[in-house]
Amino acid sequence: MQLPEENLVHVQCADCDMRLMEFIKIRESNKEHKFKVLCPGEKCEGSWEVEIIGDCVYNTPEGLVIENMNLNEETGVMTIEVNKNE
Ligand SMILES: [Zn+2]
Repeated sequence: MQLPEENLVHVQCADCDMRLMEFIKIRESNKEHKFKVLCPGEKCEGSWEVEIIGDCVYNTPEGLVIENMNLNEETGVMTIEVNKNE
């Protein structure tokens, strides 16, 4: 099944241009997801937020792994730490 391109959300660090995560919306729903992705770059302290409404799955680009995920119950923001897969 081919998903429409707008269902794919790339999170890219605006400081070092590294691609950090990709989210794919697989179904319309009224679930609200807030993600905050931290860049593993040594000189980067960037964190990039995305909001997705609907059911979604996520994936890391090649060479990166998810190191930690932490949901803030108060804000509903899921913070994701990624790291280089070495
Ligand atoms: Zn960065």
